[in-house]
Amino acid sequence: MRKRILALGGDGIGPEILNYGLQAARDLAIRAGIELEICHGLLHGASWDAHQAFCTAEVLHMAQQADAVLVGAVGGPRWDNIRVPGGAECQDGLMYLRHHLQTYLGVRPSRARGPLLDRTPFRSGVADRADVLILREMCGGAMFATERGQRIIGGKRQGFDLTAYDEAEVARFAHGGFQLARRRRGHLVSCDKSNVMESYKLWREVVTEVSKDYPDVAFENMFADNCAYQLMMRPHDFNVVLACNQMGDVLSDLAAVFAGSLGMLPSASLAANPGTGPIFGMYESTAGSAPDIAGQGIANPVGTLLSVGMMFTHSFGQPKFELQLETAVSQTLRDGILTPDLGGTATGAQMTRAILERLPV
Ligand code: NAD
Ligand code: MN
Repeated sequence: MRKRILALGGDGIGPEILNYGLQAARDLAIRAGIELEICHGLLHGASWDAHQAFCTAEVLHMAQQADAVLVGAVGGPRWDNIRVPGGAECQDGLMYLRHHLQTYLGVRPSRARGPLLDRTPFRSGVADRADVLILREMCGGAMFATERGQRIIGGKRQGFDLTAYDEAEVARFAHGGFQLARRRRGHLVSCDKSNVMESYKLWREVVTEVSKDYPDVAFENMFADNCAYQLMMRPHDFNVVLACNQMGDVLSDLAAVFAGSLGMLPSASLAANPGTGPIFGMYESTAGSAPDIAGQGIANPVGTLLSVGMMFTHSFGQPKFELQLETAVSQTLRDGILTPDLGGTATGAQMTRAILERLPV
């Protein structure tokens, strides 16, 4: 079997963690009997510096020709305030790819890990078994507002981003959520602010309609602010949380608290709901480009490595390897080979090597 990955390092720690991810991908591909072809491209700041665009048509074309895209991370103070003509998607390289590839289903798992429990702020017993899947809508909502900008209203500057979701956008995403919930313990919470906003009234209506197709999945609507609170107070009661683009962004960083570091969290953004066959996806650590630690070789590789595991499951149809990576990560944590964000002294390269050495032969 041949598979093609487009590798996009991006900015800050991005190229560093991408490199760890590619080591894992090559290693797993050999075990899986996959002939891996890896192409490289520039994204976001790196692309801006070379081409004055956060993503070029050529990189988009390469992504369209690939089975999966592996991303390091993007962004940094040098580029955070550059304004580009065009829609919301033109302001950010990742958003450009998400928009054009319609990778709407953001899958962001986070769970507590025994050896890292003392890295969390929870007292013993509160989050020891936390295991949640935050599902973030990736292609719509306020972040992709078609009506956005700054203007003068009544002599004052006003910034605005229209929050809008149509029913088809919500429905395809909700179906993905229920299908994934079915594969887990089967409990899904959808969060919104339908108490105060029209867009979320429709959101709640559509998700509730979709829920009727999944009578086997326990389903609950919750207001997002309360959901964030309950998630921290009683994490064991949560399994799958469905959220819009903006709230999913915040909730997934919040859920990283269970895992002991933001650097631990993988993510997949899928262009179709997981069914029987391989689907196109973009894979990246949930965290950003961590400019504060860039260039020091100390970035935690786990989020990116586990993202590669998700790539083998969803885009290559080989779930066995995600489980093997997961086991190797747990073993490495137990053996105390940890980057500084986890309280250790290992470099990212050392931790990567330790994890890959612990894969079964
Ligand atoms: P960040 O996620 O980059 O960093 C937050 C904190 O987590 C920092 O203290 C950082 O050192 C730490 N951290 C993140 N990844 C880590 C890792 N692998 N190992 C160890 N520690 C890690 O958030 P920020 O500082 O607010 O944003 C920096 C830039 O990243 C901004 O330009 C932002 O727009 C961008 N960003 C990109 C993505 C993405 O590429 N998907 C996501 C979020 C933010
Ligand atoms: Mn984020």
